[in-house]
Amino acid sequence: MSNAPDNKPPQPPAGAPRPAAPAGQPSAGAPRPAVPGSAPARPPGAPAPSAGVPNPAGAPTPAGGVPRPAGAAPAGAAPAAAKPAGALTPAGGITKPAGAPAAAPVAAKPAAAPAPKPAAKPAAAPAAAKAVPRASGGSGEKGRRKFGQVLVDLGFVDEDQLWELLEEAKTTGKKLGETVMARGMINAEQLLQVLAEQNGLKLASLADAKPSPEALAMVPQTMAAVYKVMPLSVKDKVLTIVVSDPANASAADDLRNLLNLNEVVVQLSTQEAMNECLERAYSNTKEESIVDLIKELETSSALAGSGRQSSIDLDSAMEMADSAPVRRLINMIFLSSIRDRAADIHFEPFEEEYRIRIKADGVLQELQPPPKFLANAISSRIKVMANLDITERRMPQDGRIELNVGGNQVDMRVSVLPTMFGESIVIRILDRSAVKLELDKIGMDAKVLNPFKEIIKKPNGIILVTGPTGSGKTTTLYSALSYLNEVTDKIITTEDPVEYEIEGLVQCPINHEIGLTFASALRAILRQDPDRILVGEIRDLETAQIAVQASLTGHTVFSTLHTNDAPSTITRMRDMGLEPFLITATVEAVLAQRLVRRICTNCRTEFNPSADMLMELELTPETAKGMKFFYGKGCDKCGETGYKGRMGIHELLIMNDDIRDAISNGVSTDELRAVGKSKGMITLRDSGLNAINLGLSTIEEVVRETVVE
Ligand SMILES: [Zn+2]
Repeated sequence: MSNAPDNKPPQPPAGAPRPAAPAGQPSAGAPRPAVPGSAPARPPGAPAPSAGVPNPAGAPTPAGGVPRPAGAAPAGAAPAAAKPAGALTPAGGITKPAGAPAAAPVAAKPAAAPAPKPAAKPAAAPAAAKAVPRASGGSGEKGRRKFGQVLVDLGFVDEDQLWELLEEAKTTGKKLGETVMARGMINAEQLLQVLAEQNGLKLASLADAKPSPEALAMVPQTMAAVYKVMPLSVKDKVLTIVVSDPANASAADDLRNLLNLNEVVVQLSTQEAMNECLERAYSNTKEESIVDLIKELETSSALAGSGRQSSIDLDSAMEMADSAPVRRLINMIFLSSIRDRAADIHFEPFEEEYRIRIKADGVLQELQPPPKFLANAISSRIKVMANLDITERRMPQDGRIELNVGGNQVDMRVSVLPTMFGESIVIRILDRSAVKLELDKIGMDAKVLNPFKEIIKKPNGIILVTGPTGSGKTTTLYSALSYLNEVTDKIITTEDPVEYEIEGLVQCPINHEIGLTFASALRAILRQDPDRILVGEIRDLETAQIAVQASLTGHTVFSTLHTNDAPSTITRMRDMGLEPFLITATVEAVLAQRLVRRICTNCRTEFNPSADMLMELELTPETAKGMKFFYGKGCDKCGETGYKGRMGIHELLIMNDDIRDAISNGVSTDELRAVGKSKGMITLRDSGLNAINLGLSTIEEVVRETVVE
């Protein structure tokens, strides 16, 4: 949702109360008297100051009623405290401490940095720059005003109307922008005008302007799509882009770094105008592909000359790393990986070749290999972006690259490992927007989902999710916690590593180097009075024992185990040395899961499987009667693979008296499975058959993931 009529400026800062809990906001939106200084600051009816500058006290005022910043700047706060509003300005300033990638090119090129790039630093935080003068006296430039204030300043509504609108927005739960539009007091164009004024952005007039070929060449289609921007023009290392959502102005920072520019100027337009313009602009230009770029690099004699020398000095490696084609190649690899929701990117030097592979949907795919002589340039460029020491080539290093694409933060964890033939680099992409942490959306069938939801609401007990690495356990657990997070309680997690940051959860990372293990973290967590706890993994008896103790003292403990299915999880806990009576007293449910690839919906085709294929599923033509089977033929939407995305299949073992008896009697895994099945346990295979029958996945996928050993 990046529509313009969204007056909610940048997303609430991390600490802000969840928007889902309007109950927490009444004080912020309280009627007039609750806002100190509102009336005296500007009596109703007084002419609205044109630019809003002369009225510093007035600025924070009506804003008190705007639902958004409630958490950050309490309405009742003293005028001075109201200033933080300025700090929340366009995301760029704060979300990314500008230092990270911004500093990189500078550090890399000490000589060049100070002179030709004076504009770089200040430009990094236009928001902050504007906010500062205001903070230090309120004169000079205007800081970022509240939407309501701008409405008044531009003369679209008067103060009395604003209070009414704020009140209405509060009761209906709608945004102020929507409310004032619904009342017909401003039209879409005027809304845009308010947003531009509020955010200090210029309005783009796309009717009589079109993107220049230079700008289009500089910002390829993938980059424009991922960042949700449109390049307009470029001159003297200053690029002008158009966004449709002021919150997306932060893209400027990234683009400046990625494209090695001095400045990126942001203008505002409507989504429709921008889309239309974009479509026309890129329709007759073919995007340079990664293959094209690699070909260009192969034939680039300048690069090849310096790169082929057997010993490469740092300067020439740096020069290559900073060269436009290398930058473009890395940008393209990163952005297309983000676009395709890839999980990680591997850069691997071998004796004869340099290989790049991208993992998406659990499958590694190799790119056209770039020439081997580029290895140093590529790894140097990535190290610069990740703020790593480029002179260090013998020790492993870890770093991160943060990008702010289309209003979402994407975290790239960079790991550099020296090998026989150069540096092997693996980048893990943690795109928070890519993960839908909603229980209803992770592909769980209602037959599993409904009981699972009931179980996780219990006030105590242990809930285990199992499966091999990469089976989506973490996503499921986080989705469960997010579900509970809406309604209750203190939740503390301890993880290795913390994969997603979730608002409202206290998350403690494990640190083996200093001896902070799951067991010791869990002990400390119990002293923090949690209601629900997530322990990343139960690996040993000690952790299992503390989890049991936590459960017995009235906590719900979520954790994972590396086992193949639900019944073997119980056996595994017993083998760890946990007494059966403690297992039966605490474990409430075990959810086993696997990920299978989804059939591409664009080329899905029904077919009749042979008896041999059915046998793999332990079915016969008779038992399979009435079932439907599908596969993907392959099309351009799925890269001819027939698959697109993945889904979970699940097995849920819910503790009941029969299963408790079986555990107490020390039965084998097989016997436990039999008891579970007789009590209605849905097995992984059942869940897979269901996915096949619904046309979601194929026989091959389900067989591979549910082979019974
Ligand atoms: Zn397809």
